[in-house]
Amino acid sequence: MVYDAVIVGGGIVGLATGLKILKSRPDLKIAILEKEAQLAQHQTANNSGVIHSGLYYKPGSLKATNCINGYHELVNFCQEEKIPFEITGKVVVATREEQKPLLETLLNRGLQNGLTGTRKITLEELKEYEPYCTGVAAIHVPQTGIVDYFQVALAYGRKIIQQGGAIFLEHKALGISQKDGISHIETSKGSFQAKLVINCAGLYSDKVARMNDAGVNDVKIIPFRGEYYKLKKEREYLVKNLIYPVPDPNFPFLGVHFTRMKKGGVEAGPNAVLAFRREGYKKSQINLGELAETLAWPGFQKVAGKYWKTGFGELYRSFSKTAFTKALQELIPEIQESDLVDGGAGVRAQACDRTGGLLDDFAIRESQYAINVLNAPSPAATSSLSIGGTVAEMALKRF
Ligand SMILES: Cc1cc2nc3c(=O)[nH]c(=O)nc-3n(C[C@H](O)[C@H](O)[C@H](O)COP(=O)(O)OP(=O)(O)OC[C@H]3O[C@@H](n4cnc5c(N)ncnc54)[C@H](O)[C@@H]3O)c2cc1C
Repeated sequence: MVYDAVIVGGGIVGLATGLKILKSRPDLKIAILEKEAQLAQHQTANNSGVIHSGLYYKPGSLKATNCINGYHELVNFCQEEKIPFEITGKVVVATREEQKPLLETLLNRGLQNGLTGTRKITLEELKEYEPYCTGVAAIHVPQTGIVDYFQVALAYGRKIIQQGGAIFLEHKALGISQKDGISHIETSKGSFQAKLVINCAGLYSDKVARMNDAGVNDVKIIPFRGEYYKLKKEREYLVKNLIYPVPDPNFPFLGVHFTRMKKGGVEAGPNAVLAFRREGYKKSQINLGELAETLAWPGFQKVAGKYWKTGFGELYRSFSKTAFTKALQELIPEIQESDLVDGGAGVRAQACDRTGGLLDDFAIRESQYAINVLNAPSPAATSSLSIGGTVAEMALKRF
């Protein structure tokens, strides 16, 4: 059988794409190939669970537009499908005087991105929102929420099946070739044929892009592990909802924060350290081949050369719970090392070009036989239905 489209990767982006295609064209034959025994086991199931508002992103960027559109679609989807979520709001807190202008810039960005109600708050108001948090200035973002993205992804999967799509678990795409206008996808459990391949392979999206005809050799995924601690149950009262620091404009994903999780508990983190394996959730997990590839990538060498101090700071905090606690104490001075227990980790797929740029925006690239989602880091879970819609539109033009 020749599928109209085969989607490689059953994470939240691949599933949202499948769902959007089937919503517009239920007659199309769509298959999703996922290498694991369950859907969405990587970035989607190991993230902070925040429904991002669109505060951080450059107005007009794909991140800004997809986050804002995706936010509304996600909230509607959760309401319709009865997936528990909460619009909690969050505070972003400057803890040092020099962060005040950055906080101001952030607020203006949020307003440019249409976040009405986002505003500067007084330090008294900060105490009302988060009684244990201290700082020198703060903003409140009412739109931010929390959800369990694994549950969202499973719901997308159920809808795909209801609408006639097929999901093949434990089917790892190993190679792709073209013959007579059709792509032949070799997997760990047999071969598939498709008119169009859609690559949503997350941490392996560059590898799958090299398999298809897109000729992508200018981008590599660099895996950054984000490690969390959890607050002990009896200290969860220290955090009401979500408390964020002012982000470093060079590394918006850095800066440990506090997040109340929809599935329960309060997480502190994540940091960002180079993972020695793409799916390396523990410090001890190393894949020498993958590590060598990362280290040999010219773009990574340039990033490492430029930002080695930041990298070492993150690494130090990864090995030293005392240092991690100290970073958290900037926001909540009362937090003690003994309040924190191990909270697991996620690995971010961050695309890096040859010349040393970490790709900031979402990146989708088309070729004759394929559409490749090459960079879908945070807020891609929030934005999933919008990114899925964008990819679906590209795909539907071909049918
Ligand atoms: C620590 C952390 C915190 C984050 N916090 C947030 C947040 O709070 N809010 C937010 O919006 N976003 C957040 N994100 C980002 C968000 O989780 C990701 O952007 C999103 O999950 C990406 O989805 P995906 O489908 O592209 O990737 P994934 O979920 O990684 O899915 C890719 C899938 O492809 C499969 N695959 C790979 N190779 C193959 C192959 N060869 N054959 C078959 N299948 C294959 C994998 O097994 C995987 O299931 C966070 C990410 C991390 C890591």
